[in-house]
Amino acid sequence: MTRLLLIGPPGAGKGTQAVRLAENYGLPAISTGDIFRSNVKNETELGAKAKAYMDAGDNVPDSLTNALIRDRLAERDCESGFLLDGYPRTTDQVRELDEFLAGHGTALDAVIELVADPDVVVERLRKRAGDQGRSDDDEAVVRHRLEVYASQTAPLVDVYGGRGVLVKIDALGAIDVVTARITDALAERGIALADRSRL
Ligand code: AMP
Repeated sequence: MTRLLLIGPPGAGKGTQAVRLAENYGLPAISTGDIFRSNVKNETELGAKAKAYMDAGDNVPDSLTNALIRDRLAERDCESGFLLDGYPRTTDQVRELDEFLAGHGTALDAVIELVADPDVVVERLRKRAGDQGRSDDDEAVVRHRLEVYASQTAPLVDVYGGRGVLVKIDALGAIDVVTARITDALAERGIALADRSRL
């Protein structure tokens, strides 16, 4: 039973690390960004509501995001733990998650902060814009997403730091190296890889 969060600015590599960690720890990776993107792609009602915020690089309103995550965490595969990528992003979302966890008599095991220099992430996202064509990877939107991160999400780092669950990881370096840093830091906290891990 492991419950993990990945937090960090856009471009720090959260999505990439989430997929690897989910596999290594045998957890479902839940990315609110991916869920919103698939709703936009499939032209759902939620997608229609979220799209303008996403294109502008703003956070989707907490009411929509919290409802989505409440439903997702209630699914069966989350009973034995989860890895959240990109949620919570605001103090209101922290409250929502706290309530959910308290209601289930559980707590987070670790909050992994991917630390990356803003100039480096802007450059990474410039590359991703070419590779993946994400509409919110336009440079002006990227700068705005970084501002939104700094004002709305960065304060969460202190919240989790104060609770003693924060694990700070240098996100610069090869993907494997960053994964190994995370795995080592979690091992120090007694969080072990799943048996079927390939590491
Ligand atoms: P991401 O893939 O995590 O970079 O998220 C892409 C976009 O989806 C963000 O810029 C927001 O517009 C939206 N989004 C993802 N997660 C959240 C969240 N927890 N709260 C609000 N908006 C979110």
